[in-house]
Amino acid sequence: MINYDHIMVRFGELNTKGKNKKEFIRTLYLNIKNALKDFANLSIEMQYDHIYIGLNDSPYEPVLERLQDVSGIYALSLVYRCEKDVNIIKESALALIKEEEGKTFKVKVKRGDKSFPLISDEITRIVAGHILRNSPELKVDVHNPDILLSIEVRQEAAYIFTKTVLGAGGYPLGVGGKTMHMLSGGIDSPVAAYLMMKRGVSIECIHFASPPYTQAGVIYKLEDLLKVLNKYQSRIRLHIVPFTKIQEAIYDNAPESYCITLMRRMMFRLADALAKRRNCPVISSGESIGQVASQTLQSMHVINAVTNTPVIRPLATTDKTEIIKISRKIGTYDISIRPYEDCCTIFTPKAPKTMPHMDEVEEFEKKFDYETLIKEALNNIEVKIITPEEEKEELL
Ligand code: ATP
Ligand code: MG
Repeated sequence: MINYDHIMVRFGELNTKGKNKKEFIRTLYLNIKNALKDFANLSIEMQYDHIYIGLNDSPYEPVLERLQDVSGIYALSLVYRCEKDVNIIKESALALIKEEEGKTFKVKVKRGDKSFPLISDEITRIVAGHILRNSPELKVDVHNPDILLSIEVRQEAAYIFTKTVLGAGGYPLGVGGKTMHMLSGGIDSPVAAYLMMKRGVSIECIHFASPPYTQAGVIYKLEDLLKVLNKYQSRIRLHIVPFTKIQEAIYDNAPESYCITLMRRMMFRLADALAKRRNCPVISSGESIGQVASQTLQSMHVINAVTNTPVIRPLATTDKTEIIKISRKIGTYDISIRPYEDCCTIFTPKAPKTMPHMDEVEEFEKKFDYETLIKEALNNIEVKIITPEEEKEELL
């Protein structure tokens, strides 16, 4: 019996990136290395347009599972590597297909090494013929086979495989630069963070805390959320901005219905300043059109007017049900629904403005010296670096 000995990593979208391709592959290689650092026995090889993980007898399931969270991977195949010799290829293919369940099969050959003496069709015929002669229970079905046996003849070796799973897609984390991501404790903003990371953008997070109106528990919740996101980015910087004074000043100086609009303008002013300080060319958030009063188009217009920095809203057009689905998939949902108040929920007015007017907003803001308050808040940011939980030492 022979065993699959490598995992073949395919890039998908990267192939369209021309001269940036090298940089993409290098970043992906480093991200894969980091994602697999807990596995002692693996070898990681970079080839022209694939990366190979040598299993060296380690079980493949946990490795595959870990790789499925690495963005920039299009597909993963569990492969057997052998010499580029048609006799060895056909014997290996026969041994591998015998381990599979199914009554019908198809052989699919890709010949990357154009100097190989046989063309794809010839290899297909030789291998399929050999399987048919030696496994009378198997039949060929080219349209809907139970087993698809793929063979790739490449420069360095031949690869045989039957199992392929999809990867996370997107781009390798880091190639897209960095965003200042607005993280509340809710369902939406961790999902938005994940979608940014999937496009290769790494994140720093900004959170506005209003103690004693918001409980300290919110911060534990954020840490837990970010520990889940550590799967995609192993070090995440969380900036906790004291927001209480600003919030109180707003409530002293503006009618209740305008408080959310003003509050969010202050949040964006703070996020903008911090983004500049931390070299993030964009801000991102979990806003979704129409979800609440502050997320109508008119509200977004008035709120966004305080900054020239692009604000990316990955969930702008996503329905709540779909957002919840993604949050369950990535594992943030159960943490997000823990009942801690955040500063928005506590101060939510009965009738917030859905159509705020810019000139009115500006009048209310003239009534207090918010710039000094913003400076003070920026000088009192608490920073936490979130990294994955150390593996708990297990006795016995
Ligand atoms: P979420 O589920 O992410 O909390 P939400 O539906 O509750 O979002 P809002 O409270 O209006 O919506 O917030 C919209 C977005 O503004 C959030 O997704 C987040 O990006 C940002 N945000 C809101 N509150 C805070 C906060 N306290 N700190 C940092 N960002 C915040
Ligand atoms: Mg919220």
